[in-house]
This record gives sequence, structure tokens and C-alpha cells, in this order.
Amino acid sequence: MSGFVFNEKPINIESGEGAYLYGSDGTEYLDFGASYAVAALGHAHPAVTDAVQKQAEKLTYVQASYPVDVRTELYEKLAAVAPDGLENVWLCNSGTEANEAAMKFARSATDRSKIIATKRGFHGRTMGALAMTWKDKYKKPFEPLAGDVEFVTYGDEAELAEAIDEETAAVFLEPVQGEGGIHPAGTEYLQTARKLTEEAGAALAFDEIQTGIGRTGTLWACEGAGVTPDILTSAKGIANGLPLGATLVADWIAENPGNHGSTFSGGPVVCAAANATLDTIVEEDYPSHAAAVGEYLKAELEAAAEEHDLPVRDVRGQGLMLGVQVKRGANRVLKNLAISEQVLALPAGRTVVRLLPPLVVTEGHADEFVESFVEVTK
Ligand SMILES: *Cc1c(COP(=O)(O)O)cnc(C)c1O
Repeated sequence: MSGFVFNEKPINIESGEGAYLYGSDGTEYLDFGASYAVAALGHAHPAVTDAVQKQAEKLTYVQASYPVDVRTELYEKLAAVAPDGLENVWLCNSGTEANEAAMKFARSATDRSKIIATKRGFHGRTMGALAMTWKDKYKKPFEPLAGDVEFVTYGDEAELAEAIDEETAAVFLEPVQGEGGIHPAGTEYLQTARKLTEEAGAALAFDEIQTGIGRTGTLWACEGAGVTPDILTSAKGIANGLPLGATLVADWIAENPGNHGSTFSGGPVVCAAANATLDTIVEEDYPSHAAAVGEYLKAELEAAAEEHDLPVRDVRGQGLMLGVQVKRGANRVLKNLAISEQVLALPAGRTVVRLLPPLVVTEGHADEFVESFVEVTK
């Protein structure tokens, strides 16, 4: 992965704690990227570390067909927090695999092949998920992909209505586009997508790999919109750094157990990490915390942009999934943040500074970020 920071100043990360990462030279970095939302509870969260250590001492792996308590527990936990009706859980090892499974299940359940995805959308880099991903840069060298995907303009209800037909197996949407520049779909669009897919007998699949696990202010972004899809995919923050993906599906989508699977899916150590992560997020109500701190951060950024006349076009997003659209290129801002301020964030396209801080950040961390942002953009 090309790095705006790493080319100029290699930062060799050695450890982390909460919202901070520490370089091997002792430098402390405020982490407002959480490595693409993976460190949902921050780095080296004690509950997760403890669960991983204890499980590693007991059993690191057993094949997925042998029941093991820690995995059964995760199935139950995910079913308990799943949006209504999505209690059928498939585990895998990454986001792209969760979407691959979703594509397979939708095709199998509907006996149709056409998939509708959105412009600017991102769903992963394996051949199926990549086929639903918009950017040519990711796709072109590897074509032909697992085709029959039609792209529509994200947020355009008429175009979606036009595209969905009796051949459509599924519509794949991110409730808030992440990689594409932090664009919330808006409740109405998601509701319309729900209505149109239902009428056409197609599955509605929400890719919540980035929006899920509390990031947008509810455990799943679809809850905030009051829309329940037929398929929901999760990964990124679900095990706070261990590789886990999950595909949650409605009864009519659920596949026979023998029809799909993978060797490492639902390994005990990963499941232990996910159980600890989910428990902590739910018990300590991090979704509400993300909503509150996110709102504060967004308001402070808007106020600072106005007060200091910063080159900012827009601050948008939901909860702790925010995008700051800047006038002169995001990478320069990100590089200066990292090098001069020891603050890490992410790009989303050329002009958007993407903020996905750990959900444990406080208003104090938000102040710290805004101060640094003003420093490098004023
Ligand atoms: C990161 C991401 C993926 C891909 O997940 P991987 O674990 O990198 O395969 C898919 N969809 C969305 C929305 C993502 O943010």
C-alpha cells in the first residue's frame, strides 16, 4: 500500500494504547484512523488482550465443523445484536470474504445472477467483491472479474428503480460510503432501496464493514436509518484487530452449511477477541459515545474552519465516521498532520481527510485533533 507518510518519514510502530500509537523511537501518535476502523476499541484494549491470551493458552485452532464454546458464544452474541431477522451468521476472515459469501448466498437464494452496486462504492479486492467495487484503478489490471454487476449513482432513487428488475439477485450498498469519500446515503434512499428490492424479490445487502460495530452512532448503521436489509456484512472492527468477517443473513438467504466455508473461519482465538470486543462495545454503549463525540468533533471542525478561514469545503459523516473535504489535496494535510503534529488520519479519495478514530476517543482527543488540524491548514 502506498503511504503518504511512509515514503517521507518511515514511522515504525512498536506499540499502542487506546487512541495512541507509539513509534520505536518513542514518538507518540494520536491515531484518528484506527487502521481503517479496525482498532474500534483502541489499541491493546485490555479486555481483548486478556481474552486472546487466555484462549491461546487453551486452544488456538480447531476445524470449523467441531463445535467449540467460544465460537458458539460468538454465534449467539452476533445473533443477539443482529438487526431483526438476520440471526443466521457465517464467519470468515476478512471483509472481502464476507462480501463474497453475501454474493454467493444472494445468487443461490434468488437463482438470479445480476448484482447492482454503486458508483464510488468499495467492497473489497477478491474477484467477486472487486467486481462490485467502483474504482477502475483497483479493477482494470485484473479483468475479467466475476461479472454481471451494474453500477448506479449512489443516492439516486430513480436510477436504482430503473436498474432493479426480475433478474436482480441483490443490491449492495454501504449505508455511508467510506473509501468513496464519506458519503451518507440518507435514510430515504435506504428505505427506497428496501422497498424496491422487496418488490422485485431481490436481496438488499448492506456492506457495514466500515460503518458497523458502533461507528456511526448505532451498532449497525442500518438501525439508525430504520431499515433492515436481508444481508449485512461486517469485518474491520469486529474483533478489534484480529481477522474476522461475518455475513449475517435472513432465513430466506441462509445457505446449507456444506455449501460454503473456509478452513480458518471462526478460529477460537479470533472468536475470543470478537466476544470481548462485542461485549465491551455493547456493555459500555460505545455506539452512543461515538454519536456524541462524533457530533462534538464535527461541530468543532466546522467552527474551527469558519473561525480560521480554513481551506475546508465540507465536513460530513455520521458518528465517528467523518470526512473533511479540503480544497488543496488531502495527502498534503495528512502528511503534515503526521510529521508536524504526530496525528494520524486517512485519505478517502484525493480531497477528503477521513477520520475513523477508535470509538474510545473523548472530547479531549477531539480537541487535540482539531488543534492539530488548524495548525497544518491555517
Ligand atoms: C475495508 C472494506 C472492505 C474490505 O474488507 P477487507 O477486510 O479489507 O477485505 C469491504 N467493504 C468496505 C465498506 C470496507 O470498508
